[in-house]
Amino acid sequence: MVDLLPEQTRRWQAVEAVARDHFRRAGVEEIRTPLLEVTELFARGIGEGTDVVGKEMYSFLDRGERSCTLRPEGTASVVRAAMQHGLLNQGAQKLWYAGPMFRYERPQAGRQRQFHQIGVECLGVSSARSDVEAIALAWDLLAALGVQGLELEINSLGTPEDRQCYRAELVAWLEARRDQLDADSQQRLTTNPLRILDSKNKATQALLADAPTLLEALSPESAQRFAQVQALLHQLGIPFKLNTRLVRGLDYYGHTAFEITSDQLGAQATVCGGGRYDGLVEQLGGPATPAIGWALGMERLLLVLEAAAKADPAGAAAQLTMSAPPEVYVVNRGEAAEAVALSLTRSLRLAGVAVELDGSGAAFGKQFKRADRSGAPWAAVIGDEEAASGVVCLKPLLREGGDQRLPLSDPAAIVTILHSAPKSSLESEEER
Ligand code: ATP
Ligand code: MG
Repeated sequence: MVDLLPEQTRRWQAVEAVARDHFRRAGVEEIRTPLLEVTELFARGIGEGTDVVGKEMYSFLDRGERSCTLRPEGTASVVRAAMQHGLLNQGAQKLWYAGPMFRYERPQAGRQRQFHQIGVECLGVSSARSDVEAIALAWDLLAALGVQGLELEINSLGTPEDRQCYRAELVAWLEARRDQLDADSQQRLTTNPLRILDSKNKATQALLADAPTLLEALSPESAQRFAQVQALLHQLGIPFKLNTRLVRGLDYYGHTAFEITSDQLGAQATVCGGGRYDGLVEQLGGPATPAIGWALGMERLLLVLEAAAKADPAGAAAQLTMSAPPEVYVVNRGEAAEAVALSLTRSLRLAGVAVELDGSGAAFGKQFKRADRSGAPWAAVIGDEEAASGVVCLKPLLREGGDQRLPLSDPAAIVTILHSAPKSSLESEEER
């Protein structure tokens, strides 16, 4: 579990702001659910045979002897909330969430025990088109953030019946080669054989190259649906690759499953994963409700963004990491001046101006150096003389021009001058 210091937090906020605007334009509304749920929700919603439920959950008994779990993912909670508050009776729902998730995994680059996701859940939609709309939401968000070198992989997991047939076929094929499987996969043969396809073990992966695929086992209807998804992706110009081994970690997926990976991330390459989960709402005791969703990992996204910002200092990813300088830096020294500077600072802030007040009491020269470094386009200077005569001296820091002396009694006039300044240090660099 890691701390996010101000510099990183700034980047996170920038990503969140882009996401929020992206979802607003797409008519996707934010939902916020508790971090803590009854364990039962995840056991039923994610599946007992999964790694997440089997060995990654932070579960404990609360003081009322109830088993509680820190949420390991967002979908089950969103579905619970939608059921509990009757959202499912109000037509299709497009919801997004962002926040921390908890999984007891081995920490490594791109893998933490508290990590963060941004996710989307579209409830009550069943068409192939809705799959593609959801995928495009993820793809376009990543593009808007300036992430490059992404690859979209898709697969179809078909219907539960398709998977039942395939499961039998796969198990038979693997049973005959049991001794070539890693220990984990041998165990999954009985608990969750489809997950073997997702094994990270090299030898197992090599063996699986010749295994029967789920795609070949799809019913004609499922195959046709999948063809439609692909045609629509083509129509939108979103490139993709078929990955017949993509099964996703959670049990409730069917039909379209997808992942978006980056070549920048090494072993933890998946930035975003999602798919259709038509069975989940019913599994959790709600009315049969088709649904599709995805979640992207913030930590991995930030790793990719940092790489993109380094590679292209003028690109969208680099813009995200820039901090906004204050609009004015207040340089002040002397007992009377410091008191006046505090009240000027406050009235400018109340008027909507971003103000940095130098609180050091240091020599003017030192304060001016800090003012320059802050990137503020203006310094507001108050010394004993200004304090005594009730004025402030506004000094442009980023462009040529004389000082302006204005009465402290007229903050509106001060604001007008400040807002006539170039917006950022970058702009004025360009002007020069
Ligand atoms: P992985 O195979 O990498 O463990 P997953 O299939 O368990 O991923 P999902 O449950 O689909 O992951 O979660 C969606 C996204 O959340 C992942 O693609 C990844 O970006 C991110 N994510 C999942 N687990 C972690 C973690 N422990 N630390 C950081 N990010 C994570
Ligand atoms: Mg995992």
